Amino acid sequence: MIDLHTHTTASDGSLSPEELISLAREIGLSGIAVTDHDTTDGVAPARAEAERIGMLFVPGIEISAEYTEHGTMHILGYFIDEKNGYFEETLLFLKESRRERNPKMITLLNEAGVDITMDDVVEEAGGGQVGRPHFARAMIRKGFCASTSEAFDKYIAKGAPCYVNKDRLTPKDSIDLIRRAGGVPVLAHPKTLKLPGQKDLKSLLKDLVKKGLMGLECYYFSNSKEEEANSLALARELGLLIVGGTDFHGKNKPKVRLGVGLGNMNIPDEVLDNLFGAHKKLTIDSMVEKGKEIRPDGPKI
Ligand code: AMP
Ligand code: ZN
Ligand code: FE
Ligand code: FE
Repeated sequence: MIDLHTHTTASDGSLSPEELISLAREIGLSGIAVTDHDTTDGVAPARAEAERIGMLFVPGIEISAEYTEHGTMHILGYFIDEKNGYFEETLLFLKESRRERNPKMITLLNEAGVDITMDDVVEEAGGGQVGRPHFARAMIRKGFCASTSEAFDKYIAKGAPCYVNKDRLTPKDSIDLIRRAGGVPVLAHPKTLKLPGQKDLKSLLKDLVKKGLMGLECYYFSNSKEEEANSLALARELGLLIVGGTDFHGKNKPKVRLGVGLGNMNIPDEVLDNLFGAHKKLTIDSMVEKGKEIRPDGPKI
């Protein structure tokens, strides 16, 4: 059993990277990817802990790309080299844009009578990157909303009165960023794009493949059996890697459990084997491109 979609305190998960890896061992996962929103700050500590206990580990990220006025497109990047200069610079730009946006949302919320401060929100983030889910939790804690969905629907969802936009990459630039950092780009949870039908998803995927997309998240905690089967069929038809994970956020999304989602997920280990294979091929291809010598006995990749 594996899980290739998880969040830590580096973004909006409730477990630290180390705690996440410990839990993964406790429940018997054979491999895990950490995929925080727009940051890789959780990767190094998670990798160190995974190495310590001998668990297969994939460094990852989940980038929120520009999509429609109602939502964003999430693109997962696996095996990214988080130290890549272009990659780091781009993430810094996204972080900066988030830092500028957050106080503007506080002002709008205050004007709307929601009396919370930036400190209240930062407190919810526990040292990690501050996002709208932390705004929602501060609003609940202070008694202005009863639930996360109420906070979003009434105030901070895209299109709601206290929402402030921030810079986002286009899907093409997100895919490009991941590829430039040596990673494997995968479209996350396509159902959240709310496309009218399977045909529309297929043409979107074809377009994204032209831009460098390599995989599709077919196993997802909220997928029905039918949605899972449809995604698997599309991935096979288009020659995309089949990927999957629970979107684990710890107690910030309490119904979703690591590895099993709502209880019955069990992503085959073969998914991770194929992902490793795809990454190895990318690495070899790029070495060939750079004219480096590849021998069966090394270099180690
Ligand atoms: P941010 O990156 O700070 O703009 O926050 C984006 C995150 O907010 C997403 O990754 C989701 O976890 C969460 N989110 C976005 N829209 C909604 C919504 N309508 N209801 C609940 N959570 C949402
Ligand atoms: Zn999240
Ligand atoms: Fe997502
Ligand atoms: Fe996620």
